[in-house]
Amino acid sequence: MQHQNLHILVDMYGCPNRCKHCWIGHMQNKKMPDNSDEIIVDYFKPYFNSLTFYSWLREPDFCNDYEQRWIKDNQLSINANPQRFELASFWRLARDKNYVHFLKNVGVKKVQLTFFGMEEITDWYIGRKGAFNELLLATEILLNNEIAPRWQVFINANNSSDIINLLALSKKLKLSERCKAFGQDFNFFIHSGSCDGENKKLYTIRINKEDIPPELIPYYNNFSETKTESQLCELLINDESIFYYHNEDEITLNVSNNFDVYFNFTHMHPRWKIGNILTDDSKTIVQKIIDEDIPALNLAKKNRVKDLVKQFGNPKSHKIFDCIDDYKAYLLNELIDYEN
Ligand code: SF4
Repeated sequence: MQHQNLHILVDMYGCPNRCKHCWIGHMQNKKMPDNSDEIIVDYFKPYFNSLTFYSWLREPDFCNDYEQRWIKDNQLSINANPQRFELASFWRLARDKNYVHFLKNVGVKKVQLTFFGMEEITDWYIGRKGAFNELLLATEILLNNEIAPRWQVFINANNSSDIINLLALSKKLKLSERCKAFGQDFNFFIHSGSCDGENKKLYTIRINKEDIPPELIPYYNNFSETKTESQLCELLINDESIFYYHNEDEITLNVSNNFDVYFNFTHMHPRWKIGNILTDDSKTIVQKIIDEDIPALNLAKKNRVKDLVKQFGNPKSHKIFDCIDDYKAYLLNELIDYEN
C-alpha cells in the first residue's frame, strides 16, 4: 500500500554549533557510514508516493563534498527534489571561498543567519567563540555575491538590550540599501522561539512581554499576536481539547546518526522515537508512522489542555509566547518530561 509524500532528513554529518536555542536538541557529531543514505531510502521507498532525501538534519552542507552530496540527495529522491529553504552554513561561508558560488549555482537568493545580539552574547548562545564574526563575514560574502542575508534574532531576558545594538549595526552596515541594489529586501526579525529541545531550558530567562524594548517591537514577528503566559492560562483554563501533532499529506521524518527515526514535530528525545531502521522491520515502523503511534503522542491524546494548564501553567507569569500553539507545545513538553 502506498502512502503520502515522505521527506527524510538524516543527520549524516553533524553540526559545528551548539546553539542554546536549538529546537532539535544537542547530539554528538558522528559521520554516518557512506551507504547509510541508500539503506534509509531503500527502507522507506516501497511505502510512499514520493520521497525527498536530505543528508542533513542540522547544519546544511557541513560535509566537504557538499556539491556531490547535493547531486546525490537529488538522485536519491523519488518523484521529488530537495529544497534549499533559504538555509546555508555560515560556518562554511566563512571558511570555503567556493561555497558561495555553489549557493548561487543552486539558485539560492536569500540566506537566514541567526544572531542573539553582539559578539559576546552571540558567541555564548551559539556555543563557540568566533561565531559572531563569522556571521558578519558571511553577511559580507553573501552581499558581494548578490544573495540577501536575513538576520533572525532570538530574544530573551539576557540579550534584549544587546539586540538594540545589533539593530543599529545592521543600519550602520546599510544592509537594506545594499540588498535593494540587487533587487532584494533585507529582513531583520525578532522572535522568542518555541519551547522545544535546548530552547525549553531557556524558559527561566524567557522575556516578559512588557520588557521587550519599544524600539524592537516593529521588528518583532507579529507582536500583536503574542501573549503572556498569564493571558494564555486564562484563555485555556477551560479548554477541553487535546493538543497533539498530526501529519496531513506530507510526512517529515528526522533520522539520527544512530538510525533512530522521529517525526519532525519537536526535539529528538526518547519518548518521541518511532523506532530504529537497523533493528525494526520497515513494515512495523511505517505502520507506526501512519498511525502516529509513539509514546509521546499517545500520552498527549490522554490529556486535555485545561488539565495541562492546571498542572504546568503559571498564571502569574508574563513570559511572552509568540502563538497559542507554542504555549500548548510547552505544556505538552512539560508533561512528557514530568512523566519520564
Ligand atoms: S540550531 Fe541549527 S546550527 Fe544551532 S546547534 Fe541546532 S542544528 Fe546546529
